[in-house]
This record gives sequence, C-alpha cells and structure tokens, in this order.
Amino acid sequence: MMQRPTWKHEDLYGVVDIGGTKIIAGIASDDALLATKRISTDALKGPDDITKRIAATFTELKEELNLSCRTLSGIGVSVPGPLNTKEGIVHFTGNLKWVDYPVAERLQAECGGVSVYIDDDGNCAGIGEACHGAGKGMQHIVYITISTGIGGAVIMDGQVYRGHQDLAGEIGHMTMIPDGPLCSCGNSGCLEAIASGTAIGLQGRQLLLQGKSDIVARLSNGRMDEVSAETVFLAAEQGDSACQAIIRNAGIYLGIAAANLVHVLNPQAIVFGGGVMRQSAVLLPLITSEMNRHLFKVQQDRIQVKAAELGDKSGLWGAKRLIAGKSKQSNM
Ligand SMILES: [Zn+2]
Repeated sequence: MMQRPTWKHEDLYGVVDIGGTKIIAGIASDDALLATKRISTDALKGPDDITKRIAATFTELKEELNLSCRTLSGIGVSVPGPLNTKEGIVHFTGNLKWVDYPVAERLQAECGGVSVYIDDDGNCAGIGEACHGAGKGMQHIVYITISTGIGGAVIMDGQVYRGHQDLAGEIGHMTMIPDGPLCSCGNSGCLEAIASGTAIGLQGRQLLLQGKSDIVARLSNGRMDEVSAETVFLAAEQGDSACQAIIRNAGIYLGIAAANLVHVLNPQAIVFGGGVMRQSAVLLPLITSEMNRHLFKVQQDRIQVKAAELGDKSGLWGAKRLIAGKSKQSNM
C-alpha cells in the first residue's frame, strides 16, 4: 500500500514595520521572508486607515504567493514607541501622531482575529539583527539605529532587556553635552540631537545659512530644504572641512556612547544600523577609534563594532520573532 505523503505545513506570519513615512509589510515563514511590499504611511489619514491598508497588503501578498486560502498564524508589528507590549497599545509617536492607539486590537479586528504582537522599532530591529543578522549566534549585543532619530535595543542573555517601565534602550536620549542642542524629547544635549540624520542635516543647513560651505551651497543649489545628512556626507567626501568636522563630531559622540554602553553592559558586539549607516565606511572607523580610547585594553580586544546586515528588513525579522517568541519556545 502506498504511503500517504506527509506535507510540511509551515506556519505563515504577517510582519510589518510601521515608520513615519513608509510601511513595509511582509509574509514570512519560519525561516524566510516570502514577500514584502512597501506602502506609504500617509499618517495624516489616521491610524485606522493605516491598519486597514496593512490588512489589505497582507491579503495582496498572500494572493501574490498563491496562498490566499491560508490563514496567518500570527502578526508581528514593529512600530515607534513608547508603547505597551502587553496591551498592544502605542502611547505616543511624534511622527505618526498616535496617542494611546490600540494598534494590536485594531489590526487583529481587520485581519480576522489573528493574534497581533507589537514592539518598538528599536527592539524589533535589534532582535532581527541579533537572530538573523550581524549579531547572529551572540547572546549579548547592543543595537543602535541612527536614522531620523537614534534608538536601539539592549539584548542580554538572548533576551531584550526592557527595564521597569518597558523603556530601556533609549540610547538616543543619553545626555552627552549638558545644555547641548535641543532634542525632540525636550531635553538638551541628547545623543540624538548631536548625531542623528536629522541633527547632521540641521548642522549642514546652519553652514549654508552662515555661508560657511561653498560645497554645501553648490550641492543644494543654495536651498535649505535640499540639505540633508546625505548632503553633509557628500560635501565631506568632496573635501569640505566644515562638513568633515560635523561628521567627526557625530562619530566622537557615538563612540563615547558606545564606550559607556560597553562599560555598563559588557556586550559581545555593538551593532549600528539605520539609514545613516549607509555611511558606515566613514562612520564605523570614527566610532571605533573614539570608543577604544575610553575602554580598558581587555574590552578593546574582545568587543566587535559592526554594521547591521539586514538593511531595511531588520525590523521585519524582529517582528517575526515576536510571534515565534509568543507562540512557541524562542530559540534566540
Ligand atoms: Zn532626547
């Protein structure tokens, strides 16, 4: 008698990374992102419109994969915080203008009752890199993302360290310069206000405004709104000493922040991700040399400073781990 074949019926997951300007949604299996799609956030249309469009995107992606008949085993969401992971509520996000929005409950309702798990974007990207990217195989890493802002995740013993109020890992808001530049959080001198993409772009615009950089003026056609962090990096590459100083300064403070984190947490690696790390060839040497100046020799020999490896998908990989961590034993 012929034996009936045993089909391996892998679980399918919905994963989504909600950012201020774009959303990346995907369908994942246990070990692969099967399909992803980028949609615009359109935050002004409100949060319910966003959850509806995410649900519609999951449906589209399943159709694309010829998996329309399959139900999702869970949905993982990476979203800016602060938020409550247990209740699935985002308390506040400046870019999205959400206030106490129950994103898990709303997305669950839009997706036929599938369980939804959320975490903040820093933690998700950190978990993604720890499990599948630059920190793979390591138990102790600090992930730092440098983009519009600076965020991150502290992963110790293979687990995200969340702290007393779910607020650990706010690396961008460590105070670096008393009475330094004003930060989006309202404090002064935070790392984010010195070394984020926004802060680097702002310093470039100040150069333009003060007539201190011919190269920035040329690259931007003299237009303030054309000056971004990218402009500053490009001008520095073309020999602009003022822009080189801005980048060196950002690297120094990132290096000091990294050294302080190494002293407190003794991780195996510090992983840097986010859009600004497209410039990792320039930034990582600056960060590493400054960091090493503040470390003990025994730490210098063992700490790895690495660029993230999953690009704009690290948040999606982390979002997938949220579900895996809930529905089955995590083997992170
Ligand atoms: Zn701050």
